[in-house]
Amino acid sequence: MTTDPSQQAQTDAQQPGASDQPAGAAPGSSPSTAQRQMAPGDEAPPGTPGTGEDVCPQCGGTGQVAEQGRCPNCQGTGKVTVGIGGA
Ligand SMILES: [Zn+2]
Repeated sequence: MTTDPSQQAQTDAQQPGASDQPAGAAPGSSPSTAQRQMAPGDEAPPGTPGTGEDVCPQCGGTGQVAEQGRCPNCQGTGKVTVGIGGA
C-alpha cells in the first residue's frame, strides 16, 4: 500500500484555521503570590471573602522577632490574614 500525497494534502486542507488560535493563554497558571501557605497567625486562607491581610501583631510587620529570628506567627511575611468587618 502506497501513501498518496494528494490524500495527505486533503487532510491538511480540511482543517481551516483549526490550529490557528493562539495557544498562549493557558488557564490555571500559578500565581505565586496568591498561593502562599497559611501561617499560624492567619485566621483564614488568603483570598477568603471577609478577610484581609493585616500587619502581623507579633512582629509588627517586620517578619522577624528578637527571640526566634523569623516570626513564627506570620512565617516571616510580616502579614497575616485576618477577618475584617466582622466582630
Ligand atoms: Zn509576624
